[in-house]
Amino acid sequence: MNRWKSKGVPHKNWFIVDQLDMGHGSTITCEMCGTQEIRYVHIMDHNNYKRLAVGCVCAENMSISYKGKGKEAERQLRLKAAKEKRNARPKPSTSP
Ligand SMILES: [Zn+2]
Repeated sequence: MNRWKSKGVPHKNWFIVDQLDMGHGSTITCEMCGTQEIRYVHIMDHNNYKRLAVGCVCAENMSISYKGKGKEAERQLRLKAAKEKRNARPKPSTSP
């Protein structure tokens, strides 16, 4: 479903609630354009619509204040994911 082409779906004045990393190998389909497979998800809220999970491209188009920041937010999530990966070393076995 492409909500950009759907009547009754607001295209502006969305605001970002949260950004999520679905994790390695996990993606969902963008709920706005219905085509983009996204790992880095932007949770968008609107006063006159339900909450949607979208990709960075749609997020930028939905929120004027977010214009140009989508890629940067995604970069930050990537850095965070890489950092968590480094920290997640296998623990030494404590079993007898
Ligand atoms: Zn999209």
